[in-house]
Amino acid sequence: MKFSLYLGSYKNVKVFIHWTFSLLLLWIIISNMRQGMPGMDILWIIIFVLALFACVVMHEFGHALAAQKYGIQTKDIVLYPIGGVARLEKLPEDPKQELWVAIAGPLVNVGLFVILSIILSFTGYNLENLELEELRIRPNTILLYIASANLILAVFNMLPAFPMDGGRVLRALLSIRLPRAKATQIAGGIGQFLAIFFVFFGLFNNPILVLIGIFIFLGAAAEVSHTQQESFLKGYKVKDALMMKFQIIAFDAPLSKAVEKLLNSQATHFVVVKDDVAVGTLSRNEIIKGLKEGNEDTIIEQVADFSPLKIETEEDLDEAWKKMMMDNKKVAFIIENGHFLGILDQENIGEFVMVKSALTKA
Ligand SMILES: [Zn+2]
Repeated sequence: MKFSLYLGSYKNVKVFIHWTFSLLLLWIIISNMRQGMPGMDILWIIIFVLALFACVVMHEFGHALAAQKYGIQTKDIVLYPIGGVARLEKLPEDPKQELWVAIAGPLVNVGLFVILSIILSFTGYNLENLELEELRIRPNTILLYIASANLILAVFNMLPAFPMDGGRVLRALLSIRLPRAKATQIAGGIGQFLAIFFVFFGLFNNPILVLIGIFIFLGAAAEVSHTQQESFLKGYKVKDALMMKFQIIAFDAPLSKAVEKLLNSQATHFVVVKDDVAVGTLSRNEIIKGLKEGNEDTIIEQVADFSPLKIETEEDLDEAWKKMMMDNKKVAFIIENGHFLGILDQENIGEFVMVKSALTKA
């Protein structure tokens, strides 16, 4: 993970914290200092936030360890200021498995809430005698805060809307009876309805709800189109969408050569060759980046990607597409019997889907 700090690993799942997390802490410190809050209070807020994110890590491990039970590995868990993300190498498609993997995260928070509540009840914490002054975060109140936060995390994540866990739980329940694409469509629709409600309600009450609404709306739309795409790719092999015609460029040519080809053709990426052998790929983004950092004379070798994703022709197209998405590759090398045969690119897969969906509707 770029720009992330490695925290450690458990059961082969690495945990990273993204650099923007430090902005969250900085923002807490500065905004509270400007309001004249004593340093001690700020320190306790920071401790609370860190404890909260420890709970988020446990939530993500809920997903990761449930997935591991079904033989699905998790690449890593990354903590962002808005929450954690467990990057599973793939999502289970069996409804029962998806249900358990999705619900395991919120269940961890429910578990933490119950445990902390029991501890709180034993320490004889009496909510009725609580003075407003004591509601500041302190050693005696922090458990109460963390317990409540876990309850909120569980409820929030169980909202039946993508990309929340609740959206996946809903989809899994629906797809016990319905085809997966249909189930996703219904779950996505419910999610978007909820999102619009959030936005409207938020406009009059709380702007943060508007942001959450937009986030959910986009997440739901992305999940629906993603699943539709996936269902259209089902049953096809990589060789069905393979591109044998592509632009090549020499590894030692200057960027100006690539710019010329970019402007004079439909191609947005190129296969980089060395001694007549395909050795890497050069995308439009890499060309632009190279021009920004250097100039037109920069040699292609310095900006091209020399570790292209390699996929076999007989592989399932939907699996290949998932691999490309996961590795964030716009283009992949297609290999047959150990030899380079052609390329597969995301745009081309998109066109493939458009053609197939037009044909099925006709
Ligand atoms: Zn979750």
